[in-house]
Amino acid sequence: MTMNTAFPAVEFDAEIIGKLSQSGPRYTSYPTADRFQQDFGYGQFLEAVAGLRMRRSQRPLSLYVHIPFCDTICYYCGCNKIVTKDHSKAATYLGYLKQEIDMQGRLFAGMGQIEQLHFGGGTPTYLSDRQMGDLMTHLHENFSFVPDAQGEYSIEIDPRTVSVDRVHSLRAQGFNRISLGVQDFDPEVQKAVNRIQPEAETRAVMDAARAAGFRSISIDLIYGLPKQTMASMEQTLDKVIDADPDRIALYNYAHLPHLFKPQRRIADADLPTAAVKLDLLALCIRRLCAAGYVYIGMDHFAKPGDELAVAQRQGRLQRNFQGYSTRAEADLISCGVSAISAVGATYSQNEKTLEAYYEKLDDGKLPVTRGIKLDTDDLLRRIVIQKLMCNFELSISSIEQAYPIRFPLYFAAELEKLKAFEDDGLVQIDPQWISVTPKGRLLIRNICMVFDRYLSMPRVDGPQPLRYSKTI
Ligand code: SF4
Repeated sequence: MTMNTAFPAVEFDAEIIGKLSQSGPRYTSYPTADRFQQDFGYGQFLEAVAGLRMRRSQRPLSLYVHIPFCDTICYYCGCNKIVTKDHSKAATYLGYLKQEIDMQGRLFAGMGQIEQLHFGGGTPTYLSDRQMGDLMTHLHENFSFVPDAQGEYSIEIDPRTVSVDRVHSLRAQGFNRISLGVQDFDPEVQKAVNRIQPEAETRAVMDAARAAGFRSISIDLIYGLPKQTMASMEQTLDKVIDADPDRIALYNYAHLPHLFKPQRRIADADLPTAAVKLDLLALCIRRLCAAGYVYIGMDHFAKPGDELAVAQRQGRLQRNFQGYSTRAEADLISCGVSAISAVGATYSQNEKTLEAYYEKLDDGKLPVTRGIKLDTDDLLRRIVIQKLMCNFELSISSIEQAYPIRFPLYFAAELEKLKAFEDDGLVQIDPQWISVTPKGRLLIRNICMVFDRYLSMPRVDGPQPLRYSKTI
């Protein structure tokens, strides 16, 4: 079945998906974070910023702020978070976070303005209203933000932690986009993942967000959770469509209990089978597209008028650590434990434990623990993967204009591998374009993996346990 013909359509072919499903990266970065190197630290990050300054960069900036705390654990969670009811820990964290923001603010002083802000976690609304207000003021003291009408200032919220008043307060503090974790409206599923969140609570928060003037409301859903059935998913989708969010992120639950301890609380017997999971995905795509949502790519849907869909039509979409984003050219400064920055031709990640994060800041250093400086080949492959992920097509001549290569020679082996996908009807290749067909769109990660040089390279730290989720 092909859905939604006005915009990039997506076609669900269970046989091909079954044949090609494998583990693979989500390409929120290229090279992927598991290839970051330990010998990249604070010094290399400073060099990257100095490089930007030398080029007198006035490129726009994105800012990510990570709040790692959660009140309770959701069993499916694979995030880097700290579950504690001791809210005094947040006060200590905020002190250090503000130190880091001071340092980053000084480094980037006089460079581009912040056009995009994203608060993620953990649970950003774990912070009290007063703490959040204080933190936002601090950010504004250290960075220059474009006015509300031009900037995208978003926050992930857990509807269980916010009141209607708090939603209005978040808007007054400068946020204009809001993303709500829902996952599933079914009470049985919610019980099985330890996230009881009554529908009325979620709807009240959404209504408040609209009344407060948030410009985009996004909902996160997950398919493949324990106790999910086709019938329960139909009902959840009825409720989601009725709630009418602007964007929907539909994530595939990756059951990797060897990597994520909370997932060991999920009984294997409660999980839908691989076949049911595919049916659930097909159902979600069919219902969301029929309700007028555009399939953006991978796990994202948006209303045709939403900025994400508009950016895709205009070729401005990019992928970053928050998924799809509309500011392709921005450098990303990330603050907080485990947060990843993308500045110039580098990625750098902060220390992953609070102790190590605090220790580096106590020493007066930015808490960078690892990262990577991209070489020309990385940059070239990054742009190829980005274009395919975001636009489902790649102009070969635009790559040849930007890089001193002959595409068919440089990527001869990759083009050869793509032929198998072409035979399956997933891509079309001609001398000018590589185009992903509607049938190939759900398998975009597989297609991009062809261009990932690192997948065929041995890791310096030896073989690793399976760390990627299934591509579909
Ligand atoms: S899913 Fe979100 S709220 Fe739940 S434990 Fe993970 S980070 Fe916290």
